[in-house]
Amino acid sequence: MKMTDNRSAAAAAAAAAVNQIEVDDVTFGYAPHKPILRNVSVKISKGRFVGLLGPSGSGKSTLLKIIIGLHKPWNGTIRFFGNSSTESYAYSSKSIGYVPQVESIDWNFPVTVKEVIGMGIWDRSGITPWFSKDVDAMVGVILDDLGIYNSEFRNRQIRELSGGEQQRVFLARALIRKPTILVLDEPISGVDYNTREKIMEILRSLNHDLDMTIIMTTHDLGGIGKRLPWVICMNKAIIAEGDPSMILTEDNLLRTYGLADYNE
Ligand code: ATP
Ligand code: MG
Repeated sequence: MKMTDNRSAAAAAAAAAVNQIEVDDVTFGYAPHKPILRNVSVKISKGRFVGLLGPSGSGKSTLLKIIIGLHKPWNGTIRFFGNSSTESYAYSSKSIGYVPQVESIDWNFPVTVKEVIGMGIWDRSGITPWFSKDVDAMVGVILDDLGIYNSEFRNRQIRELSGGEQQRVFLARALIRKPTILVLDEPISGVDYNTREKIMEILRSLNHDLDMTIIMTTHDLGGIGKRLPWVICMNKAIIAEGDPSMILTEDNLLRTYGLADYNE
């Protein structure tokens, strides 16, 4: 059936209104009867740059892992572009680049920068990625973009790098997938002011130039949170979201960080 112009316009408007990521009424915990996330709903449209704020233990990393498909919610759904999350859109789909929280990584294994970045496309190439010349070239380009390229850097052991260098190597590992959604867990924790600003500049240009949707957690309320275009405050449940100038009020900060019980 041929659509009239009006109906085509309506369909286009409806498509534009569909959220890229939709977390709908999600409840999840690691132990029975002890939910960490409670009825969490979040909608993120394409091209948004969102900061996820909340105290330690409030479920930020857990929510990111639910979004990328590492954990399955007890209740509720995750949708991408209006479709329920399936294997085709989970982390393995390569549409999502994920930068894990550095504190959660075991640095004792012997692995080089190039090997870590190559792991980002392990499942795409089907072969051990750092044997491929294509991957070698891609690693060089990405390191260059991130301002950490030189000929010996790619062969350095990951455990010998500074915190800021490690953060960027894990960002490179996410970017080599050419994702449309970038999910970052504390990408600027433990780095100095200049490194923080450099990483934020890279993220802003990925968001602005490539229209990449970005969601990142941070504890840096004043330095970064206040400068992001959109923030979500959470403490197991969503407390507030919007423009930080409207959202980071005393009342919301008290409800997010102050008296909330997040240690149960
Ligand atoms: P931080 O700011 O310290 O990174 P967070 O907001 O990211 O904290 P989560 O890592 O999501 O918090 O953890 C939320 C709660 O779930 C914490 O109480 C934590 O101990 C618990 N938790 C996280 N991962 C697991 C796990 N794999 N098994 C059991 N409990 C877990
Ligand atoms: Mg965390």
